[in-house]
Amino acid sequence: MRAKIVAGNWKMHGTRAESATLIDAIIAGLRADSAQCVLCPPFVYLSDAWRLLRGGSVALGAQDVCAETHGAFTGEISAAMLKDVGCQYVLVGHSERRALYGEDSQLVARKFAAALSRGLTPILCVGEQLAEREAGRTQEVVASQLDAVTGLCGVPALDAAVIAYEPVWAIGTGRTATPGQAQDVHEFIRQRMAGQDAKIAADVRILYGGSVKAGNARELFAMPDVDGGLIGGASLKADEFLSIVAAASG
Ligand code: PEP
Repeated sequence: MRAKIVAGNWKMHGTRAESATLIDAIIAGLRADSAQCVLCPPFVYLSDAWRLLRGGSVALGAQDVCAETHGAFTGEISAAMLKDVGCQYVLVGHSERRALYGEDSQLVARKFAAALSRGLTPILCVGEQLAEREAGRTQEVVASQLDAVTGLCGVPALDAAVIAYEPVWAIGTGRTATPGQAQDVHEFIRQRMAGQDAKIAADVRILYGGSVKAGNARELFAMPDVDGGLIGGASLKADEFLSIVAAASG
C-alpha cells in the first residue's frame, strides 16, 4: 500500500509573515493520522519554514533546483544548498518552469539527477498541454518526459522519487481532470515503468496536480493509481489545504 503525499506549491506568493502564519495554521490543523505533507515555499522563506517545521511531521520542499553543483551560476540554488536549509523534497520540471523558463526534458533530467545526488527526493512533474491532449498525444508527451529522466538516471532512480502528473490545461485554470482522466494517465505511467521494473512501478507515488480543491480531492484520491496531490492555489489557504490533506488521510 502506497502512503499518500499532499504537497503544496506556494509558487511566488505571500510575504514572510504570511508564510509563517500559513505554516502555523497547517501544523495546528494536522491530525496524528494525516497523510504526509510537503510544503514548498519560495526559496527565500525556506530557512524560516524549516525553523517552524523542525521536529514535526511536515516535510520541506523547494520549487526548483539548479542542475549544476556549484559555481558561477548567478541566481541559481544548488541541491546542496537546499539540503543545507532543511529541504527533503524538490519540484523538478514544473510546467511553469518548462513553459516560462524554457526548461526542456534534458535539463529537467539533469535537475532530477542533481537532486538525487544530494539525497533530495525529486517530485518530477510531467503533463501535456491542452492541444496535445486534443491531438491524442497525452501518452506520447508524458512518456517522453519520463524517458528523458530514466534515460539519464535509470529506472531504479525513480525508487527515490515521486512523480506528479499535472495536465497543463488544469493548472491554475479551475478546470480539473476527471478522476477517470487522471487515473488513465497515472495507470499509463505505472505500466510504462512496470515494463522495466515491476517493483519500482508498484511502489512509486504518482501525485495528481491541476486545480485540486477540497471539493474534488476525495474523488481524485480514490483512484487506484492516484497517490495524493500536488496543490497550487488551494495550498495557500490553510483550511482548504487541510481539507485536501484530510481527503488523503486515514
Ligand atoms: C501546480 O502549480 O502545481 C498546481 C497544481 O496548481 P493549481 O493547484 O493551482 O492548479
